[in-house]
Amino acid sequence: MIHRDDPRVCDCLANDCARVGPEARYCDLAPEKRAQVLAVFDNDRYLGVVLARQAALFPNRIFADLLTATRQPPALAGDTPLEEALAQLEHGRYDCLPVIDTQGRFLGVVSASSLFRCLAQRERVARERLACAVQVLEEELVHHRMATAVFDTTSEGIMVTDADARILYVNRAFVETTGYTLEEVQGKSPHVLASGRHDAEFYRALWQQLKDTGHWSGEIWNRRKNGEIYPEYLHIDTIRDKEGRPYRYVGVFSDISDDRLIQRQLYELAFHDPLTGLANRALLRERLAAAVGQASRNGGRFAVVLLDLDRFKNVNDSLGHGAGDELLKQVGRRLEDLVRETDTVARMGGDEFTLLLCEQPDTASIKKIAPKILDAVRRPILVEGHELRVEASLGIAYFPEDGTDAETLLRHADTALYHAKAASGPGWARYEAGMGRRAKENLELETALRAALESGAGLHLAWQPQVRLADGRITGVEALARWIHPQLGPISPARFIPVVEQTGLAPAFGSWLIETFIADAERLLAALSDEHVRFALNVSPHNLHDDRFLRLLTDALRHLEILPDRIEVELTESSLMEDEGTQTHMLRALRDAGFGLAVDDFGSGYSNLAYLMRFAVDRLKIDMQFIAGLEHSAANRRLVEAMLRMADSLQMEVVAEGVERESQRQILLELGCQFAQGYLFAQPMAADELIRHLRGQALTA
Ligand code: C2E
Ligand code: CA
Ligand code: CA
Repeated sequence: MIHRDDPRVCDCLANDCARVGPEARYCDLAPEKRAQVLAVFDNDRYLGVVLARQAALFPNRIFADLLTATRQPPALAGDTPLEEALAQLEHGRYDCLPVIDTQGRFLGVVSASSLFRCLAQRERVARERLACAVQVLEEELVHHRMATAVFDTTSEGIMVTDADARILYVNRAFVETTGYTLEEVQGKSPHVLASGRHDAEFYRALWQQLKDTGHWSGEIWNRRKNGEIYPEYLHIDTIRDKEGRPYRYVGVFSDISDDRLIQRQLYELAFHDPLTGLANRALLRERLAAAVGQASRNGGRFAVVLLDLDRFKNVNDSLGHGAGDELLKQVGRRLEDLVRETDTVARMGGDEFTLLLCEQPDTASIKKIAPKILDAVRRPILVEGHELRVEASLGIAYFPEDGTDAETLLRHADTALYHAKAASGPGWARYEAGMGRRAKENLELETALRAALESGAGLHLAWQPQVRLADGRITGVEALARWIHPQLGPISPARFIPVVEQTGLAPAFGSWLIETFIADAERLLAALSDEHVRFALNVSPHNLHDDRFLRLLTDALRHLEILPDRIEVELTESSLMEDEGTQTHMLRALRDAGFGLAVDDFGSGYSNLAYLMRFAVDRLKIDMQFIAGLEHSAANRRLVEAMLRMADSLQMEVVAEGVERESQRQILLELGCQFAQGYLFAQPMAADELIRHLRGQALTA
């Protein structure tokens, strides 16, 4: 291999060459001029060379004579390679060779020794160069190995293409995700992965952006070798050559189909009742609103039918929850078989169903429909070898006769249902004005509640511990409102909280709640040895609209002299989803003040994850309907699992609500759930009782 800067003969001239005239004689030369080689010049014209050792034999003869007596070597061009010069020396048995430039001017002579010196030098340089190159190669190799290792072990798929988008390399994750090996895709266009879900415009825009900015990222659907299509998050970068032209494209992607799966499960969960697979309350509300909109525009008529099973509780109590669940499923199926495809059957929770029956010709249609529904439910149902007979009651309201908005229709159907149950009639009733017994009842409750809030009589808080599943240690306590009506006795908050919210009582109730909460919490704090136990309170959306409420809460905090994150505000999922604008404002304020935030009844409403993430929620409380069926329903298990995974990825803690049995605790532990609340650990109890309880031991199952 010849290097451009390899030495030529002109670089290897011997330094013991002296110039002499043709008339000079060896004996005349001064000793210092007696070099090994004597180049003879007539003025500036080169005549030839004479070796000192030949001249010394005839010291008195002039060099012109000596020249004619010696064999003159041929001249070499200055750029002759060294090997060639050596060959000529050897071949002609010369001691030296003159070197001339392109104009024929004499430059000097080269001898075997001058050439060898040069060669040795060249050798040394080459060896050094080689050593350098080896070192660089070794370093490159290490880098390459490292890059290859990263390339191959990363969990993200990588694809490298040339400038024409032909695939050059793919890594192991690519192979695992797509099912294609390197050999199968090498040299092909990434289009082999196209799912068909994006149009040409999509790809055109992608390439345009890549050209303009050098990169592109986003979600894209691709197809695996087995035909399955899946979403991936893809980032493409352009690598340019020295001239700035695209040289390689590198695509890095992660398969996000698992995330999507969770989203879809949560969507299912948000709109369907997990036990029966029917629409849930949220979906019914949506369909109802749509039906109202459509019927208002087209002048149509539809019916809302509320169905309630009579004495369903007996089935649960005598045959167990499993039998109760099975019964509900079968009833749900029968109802679905009965209605048209455009109609909706929803389970509202417990043993309540709602039917949305579209396109009714007149309000008399109910006389035909109602008996059919009741007959379908009455037919014997076989559950676990028992032939069960259940009765049902129906309450019906028509759009537009009995109400022109969803709210009113549901309320009036409920009123009608109440009548159907109370009366000894056919088991169904259509709403009639004046049926408003529920309304009357609500009014009575409101009056009594107002009095209770003024005097404080009959109202108190019950506290229910939240525990760590692994060891039963109390991690928090939740305050639940209790009201004992002077005549009617204890009224469930599920009954009176809606009254508070629907009337003007929310601010008064809010004040009472916080006041009592602080008073109790103060005593509990004194009794608690654990510094970290949280105090949770349930806040209704109405309070969130009320700036005073937040002030009261912050004052309370100051009074208690504890860190704000030890107070946790529980908001139901459905209340979080209503009216985003104002909620956002207050939630921000709560967060900014440092309070903890928990989503209550998670899974029962519409779960908009992106929305939840905005508030950095600390905790999700899984609604007890999912926990109730945990042992018997694989679907519930999967859902709870999905919720746990999702919460984990959002760094939220999870509390399972309504844990009543050891078997549920076991399953939750297996699924990786850490915290729970329920009768298995403790019932809600008055503050004094909880203090006595705390003086005892940790709550273990
Ligand atoms: P929640 O916040 O989901 O409270 C849990 C409910 O489940 C409580 O019913 C509790 O007694 C009950 N529970 C606890 N463990 C178990 C169990 O193992 N099995 C069963 N079957 N139930 C269990 P409660 O006290 O009747 O409260 C009902 C709902 O009323 C609460 O549901 C909450 O949404 C609302 N509520 C209660 N107090 C307040 C309050 O002060 N303010 C507001 N805005 N709402 C409240
Ligand atoms: Ca709660
Ligand atoms: Ca709850």
